[in-house]
Amino acid sequence: MNILTFGPNGSGKGTQGAIIKEKYGIDHIESGAIFREHIKGGTELGKKAKAYIDRGDLVPDEITIPMVLETLAKSKEKGWLLDGFPRSLAQAEALDKALKEAGMKLDFVVEIMLDRQIAKDRIMGRRLCANDNNHPNHIAFDAIKPVEKDGKLVCRVCGGDLSARADDQDEGAINKRHDIYYDDKTGTMAAVNYFKKQADTKMISVDGSKSIKDVSALIMQQLP
Ligand code: AMP
Repeated sequence: MNILTFGPNGSGKGTQGAIIKEKYGIDHIESGAIFREHIKGGTELGKKAKAYIDRGDLVPDEITIPMVLETLAKSKEKGWLLDGFPRSLAQAEALDKALKEAGMKLDFVVEIMLDRQIAKDRIMGRRLCANDNNHPNHIAFDAIKPVEKDGKLVCRVCGGDLSARADDQDEGAINKRHDIYYDDKTGTMAAVNYFKKQADTKMISVDGSKSIKDVSALIMQQLP
């Protein structure tokens, strides 16, 4: 099964992605997380991408598109849930073309809808686990609140160290990411609408303002 997920930064897309991945045993591919791995590992790609990411700008397509498509190809047998890509109409078209060429079908598109101001308020409280990108932690949500150990907050799943992403604490970078997401001319909403028009892809659009459990139930009701 191959799934594409959309939702503004802060909509809980990563959290829901982790739940879906777990249930269906498919690979969770997050373009932003791949970039962060490259930056951590000091690779050439990471060096090129870092300045864009810190500002909240998109990393250029000539770097991003091949990187994501290569990763997807590796998960062809297992199936995948793609998160963070496509973020523009151009990327949507490139993905559609590449999938057709590779004989891969897009089965579901999950869209988590959320008001821009709520999304912004949520971003600043999320925390990243050093051990596993799929361990959601957020200081404002009881269901995924980090736990306290030796006077500091650690991952609620594994006790790993937590950090906040620099681009999550910078209001300018958050606004830029949201400008890109809510742009329905050439940005991410244009990519969402591109897939909405495709007859053979089932679209699942859910209200992201509800609790993690409720959003998950809404999505799961519509997945097989
Ligand atoms: P995310 O973790 O999805 O918020 O992504 C973090 C940052 O990685 C974004 O703000 C962009 O700078 C970069 N990035 C992630 N996915 C893409 C993409 N599909 N196209 C271009 N840049 C991306």
